[in-house]
Amino acid sequence: MTETLPAPWQRAATGANLLASDGALGVTIFEEMTTLAMQTGAINLGQGFPDEDGPAEIKAAAQAAIAEGSNQYAPGKGIPQLRKAVSAHQRRFYGLEPDPDTEIIVTTGATEAIAASLLAFVGPGDEVLTFEPFYDSYGAIIGLSGATHVTAPLLAPDFLPDAAALEAAFTDRTKVVLLNNPHNPTGAVFPREVLQRVVDLARKHDAIIITDEVYEHLTFGVSHIPVATLPGAADRTVTISSAGKTFSFTGWKVGWLSGPEHLVAAVRTVKQFLTYSSGTPFQSAIATGLALPDEFYKGISATLRKKRDILSEGLRAAGLEVFTPDGTYFVNVDTSPLGIRDSVDLARRLPALVGVAAIPVPVFCHPEGAERTRSLLRFAFCKRDEVLEEAATRLATLRDRL
Ligand code: PMP
Ligand code: GLN
Repeated sequence: MTETLPAPWQRAATGANLLASDGALGVTIFEEMTTLAMQTGAINLGQGFPDEDGPAEIKAAAQAAIAEGSNQYAPGKGIPQLRKAVSAHQRRFYGLEPDPDTEIIVTTGATEAIAASLLAFVGPGDEVLTFEPFYDSYGAIIGLSGATHVTAPLLAPDFLPDAAALEAAFTDRTKVVLLNNPHNPTGAVFPREVLQRVVDLARKHDAIIITDEVYEHLTFGVSHIPVATLPGAADRTVTISSAGKTFSFTGWKVGWLSGPEHLVAAVRTVKQFLTYSSGTPFQSAIATGLALPDEFYKGISATLRKKRDILSEGLRAAGLEVFTPDGTYFVNVDTSPLGIRDSVDLARRLPALVGVAAIPVPVFCHPEGAERTRSLLRFAFCKRDEVLEEAATRLATLRDRL
C-alpha cells in the first residue's frame, strides 16, 4: 500500500513553514510583515525589496520596448537578445561560456527557475539537500514535488556548514543539492573550500547541483565564486540568477538559468508549462542592464555596503548582537542580549512597538532548525540611507519599550 501524502498545497505550506497568523495559509511571512508594516506605518525592513528603482536607462529601455511593440509572447526560452546578454555576462565576470541557444533559459524570476528545476528533477523517494535556514520557496517546492527535504545547519556567528554534518546529510537518495550563495537569510558568502566540498560530495553521490546566485553582485569585499566554475561542477550544475536584486527591479520578475544542455532542456520542459514565457519588454530592458559597464556593478556593491554599515551600527547601538553579512540585502541579529527568546513573537510586536518590521529567522527553518534560530531576526538594508537612519533611531528605543 502506498502511503497517502497530504494535498500538494499542504505540503507546500508545511515545506515553507508558513507561520501566517489567523490561519491565512496563502500568505507568506514576507507578505504578512509587509501588511503589518503598512497597517502600523512601520519602516519595512522585512521583505527584501529596495525602496529606490534601478538605473533610468533600464527603465527607458523597457518603455521603448513597449512603445516599439515588443508586447506579444516571447519565445519560451527567452528572447535571443537576453540569452546572449546572459552568456556575455557569465563570460565577462566568471569566464563561463554557456551557449545562448541550448544552455540558457529565461524564467519568470528566480522563483520560477527554482520551481521548474526542482520539479524537473525530483519526486517522491528522492532527497533534496539544502542548508538551513533556507529561502522559503525551496521548502515549498520540495514539498510540492513529494521529495524529502534534508538540511545541513548553518550556525551563527559565521553561518558556515560543519564539514562532518554536511557529509552526513548526503545519502544515496540525494538527488539534488540546492545551494544558495550569497545566502538568504544569513548573508553568508561561502568560501571556495566550502563550495568545493559540496561539489565533491555531489559527485560522490551523483547528485545534481542547483545553485541560486541571485545576490551574485551584492557582496562586500569578498568575491562571489559561482559553483559552476569549480572543478567537477560544470556538468552537473544548474545556475540561477535574477534581475531583481542586481538591478533593483524586483517587481519585473525576470530571471534566468544556465547549465549543461541536458539539464537545461529538462528544466525547460517543465518551465514551458508553468508560465510558457516571461514578460517580453522587460527581457529586452534587462539585456541592456546586463551590458552596463563594470562601474555599475562596483557601484551597487559599494552603495549597499554603506547601507549595511548604517543599519548594523543602529542595531548594535540598540543592544542586539549583530552578525555582519558579507553579502545580500540582509543582516541578522541575536535578540537574546535584550532578554528576548522568541523572535517570531518579537517580529509580530516590533512594528507597533518601535515602528520597524523585520523577519524572524525561524520561518526559514523546519521545526528543529527553528528551535536553533529562535532568537534570530533578519533586517533588510536595501533602503535609502535616511530611512535606515530613522530605523536606527526607532530601534534605539526598543530596550525601554519591551
Ligand atoms: N532566491 C533567493 C535566495 C531570494 O532571496 C529571492 C527573492 N528575493 C529569490 C530567489 C526570488 O527571486 P525572484 O524575485 O527573481 O523570483
Ligand atoms: N526574497 C525576498 C526576501 O527574502 C522576498 C520575496 C518574497 O516575498 N517571496 O525577503
